[in-house]
Amino acid sequence: MIETQLLSGTVVSAAVKEEVAERVANLGARGKGVGLATVLVGEDPASEVYVRNKRRTAEKLGITSIHHQLAADTPQAEIDDLIIQLNEDPAVDGILLQLPLPEGLDGERAVKLIDPTKDADGLHPSNLGMLILGQPGLTPCTPTGVMRILDHYGIGVSGKNVIVIGRSFLVGRPLAMLMNQKGVDATVTMAHSRTPDLAAMARRADIVVAAVGVPKLVGPDYVRPGATVIDVGINRTEEGLVGDADFDALQGIAGAITPVPKGVGPMTIAMLMHNTVRAAEASMA
Ligand code: NAD
Repeated sequence: MIETQLLSGTVVSAAVKEEVAERVANLGARGKGVGLATVLVGEDPASEVYVRNKRRTAEKLGITSIHHQLAADTPQAEIDDLIIQLNEDPAVDGILLQLPLPEGLDGERAVKLIDPTKDADGLHPSNLGMLILGQPGLTPCTPTGVMRILDHYGIGVSGKNVIVIGRSFLVGRPLAMLMNQKGVDATVTMAHSRTPDLAAMARRADIVVAAVGVPKLVGPDYVRPGATVIDVGINRTEEGLVGDADFDALQGIAGAITPVPKGVGPMTIAMLMHNTVRAAEASMA
């Protein structure tokens, strides 16, 4: 019987945040404050919670939170102007535009206006391009958080077969890129809703990552005994928050698994802070 190891995002995110706080303090000692600007347009309750958490975490780590709340009917030009103004503000090291924007506004266009060196979310096309080129840049928070969890628990990906289920530009696609970077060297299959015989394909993998948005999709038929399961999914169901993997059914089958909640979720905010301090350090170089 396999004893399934719990990969705790709470533990790993605490370690990342401790490191960030230290780096922020070091910059402070050199006279450089670190600032994260958040921009929230409209009053979507979920987005409000996300932004509040990001601001609170920033403040706890010694990062100044600079918040801009805009009405849902703000014209696109005003959002664009704000981004340009934040790009030029030396007190702002990271810019986070909370997506999605309300109907009628173009989030993609606004993200493209963010100075790539201040792109705390790592979603600017220039940073995504650097990722494909294997060159240093700010990388998307959730996939980077997944890499950090694996690293923390000593689960090497070099030479492993990895399947990433889900190919969004936010999670699956950049994660696949991070995994098969030179020097990281996993062999990655990027699967999606049109992949035939997905379960059989997943069973061949050493690491199964689910970033899908389908509750409990990845069950025992998807996981070969001893494989690692990384569950990125966050699904609000009648039983509460559940992931894309069937956590209970995979006990005794998976070698290691992230829970939902308290798995990949807390890593996303931690890596946002990490990107912000990296951006601040780079501005001093
Ligand atoms: P998305 O909807 O943009 O993409 C989902 C992907 O899954 C698509 O590529 C689609 O082809 C694929 N897919 C859909 N149904 C499938 C199926 N039945 N079989 C195989 N593939 C299928 O979603 P996203 O933004 O990548 O988010 C995925 C999940 O991760 C969601 O539950 C989301 O809430 C969660 N998420 C979590 C975090 C975090 O911080 N933990 C961050 C972002 C997203």
